[in-house]
Amino acid sequence: MKSRQQIAKCIERLGTDSAFEVFAKAKKLEQAGEKIIHLGIGQPDFRTPENIVEAACKALKNGHHGYTPVGGIPELREAVVEDVEKYRNTKLNPNNVLIAPGGKSIIFYTILMFGEKGTEIIYPDPGFLSYKSTISFTGAKPVPLKYSEKNNFSFDPEELLSLITPKTRLIIINSPSNPTGGIIKEDEMIALAKELEKYPEIYILSDEIYSRMVFKNNRHISPLQYDSIRDRVILLDGWSKTYAMTGWRIGYGIFPNRIYKYAEKIAINCHSCVSTASQYAALEALKGPQGAVEMMVQEFQKRRDYMVENINKIKGFNCLNPGGAFYIFPNIKETGLKSKAIEIKLLEELGIATVSGPSFGNFGEGYIRISYANSLINLKEAIRRLKNYPMDK
Ligand code: PLP
Repeated sequence: MKSRQQIAKCIERLGTDSAFEVFAKAKKLEQAGEKIIHLGIGQPDFRTPENIVEAACKALKNGHHGYTPVGGIPELREAVVEDVEKYRNTKLNPNNVLIAPGGKSIIFYTILMFGEKGTEIIYPDPGFLSYKSTISFTGAKPVPLKYSEKNNFSFDPEELLSLITPKTRLIIINSPSNPTGGIIKEDEMIALAKELEKYPEIYILSDEIYSRMVFKNNRHISPLQYDSIRDRVILLDGWSKTYAMTGWRIGYGIFPNRIYKYAEKIAINCHSCVSTASQYAALEALKGPQGAVEMMVQEFQKRRDYMVENINKIKGFNCLNPGGAFYIFPNIKETGLKSKAIEIKLLEELGIATVSGPSFGNFGEGYIRISYANSLINLKEAIRRLKNYPMDK
């Protein structure tokens, strides 16, 4: 008898990560002998600083290999609060910190907490794939908020206001942004805080995973800085990008008092605690020297400058100068081709892996995401290949 597979409908509503799909395709081409330049995947190309690696080894050698409290080791939760207070000018309590296996888990847990059929969650479009995917998974309605090029890839506070309904439970914001590198400006954040005073029941998830990857003449602003909404802000940040620790699977969320217990409950049911060695490594990252972070940010800024200047010389490409993260999001509309066609062309004909804009939402059509988390030598080679290639054929 033929077996019948019965998978829950909510699983079918989950999306996938196109960057990983492009990566897998690029790897296949590499195995076939192609020389691929990886500008698709979003992770720093630097090694985790040595002092951090050593702290993890030492922790294991000293016998720190068992479970820890769900929220994380106390020293780490305290260090997170100190760090957040330093960069966001606010006062916090370590009891509100949940150490989690990557920032992505904080997105998942938060959306699980608020989303269900009959509710709405506003999220950035173009934006990180997990938002829409997880919102749909819960049965809530995903409501895209456009982060438009004409607004430097941030949102228009008036438009945000027009999307709020009595069903809105959560608003997700992300700055610096993946996929655009755009930064929410102070006046936009002030307008957001002011408007949300009228909706005391709506929570805000602020994804600040790129908070330290901010370049000259730009400033990172967090909604945590505003008294009138602070008690409704869930802050997401972590170590993946700042300290080149994507594979250590550690990040954190800071949840307001009223809802911390729910986040903890989900964590108990899901991951119990984060790898102990990763927690000691993360502690050293925050407490130890910060020179490696400064070096990485300077290097990313150099690469951004190079990429923006040179991508704008490619026929059909028009690119803003983003203030943070390690992505550019050029407008490719003048090529006359769709984003996906450009993504395929670049990979299959030029050996350059990128991710098409619509992978990050419908408003991403007409753009592609290029990650410059790759050496300047490889970026120069990518530009050389692009220059010699007519994009509009
Ligand atoms: N949020 C955004 C906007 C991201 O781009 C990413 C990773 O790419 C994450 C969250 C998740 O980071 P982590 O590796 O800590 O799970």
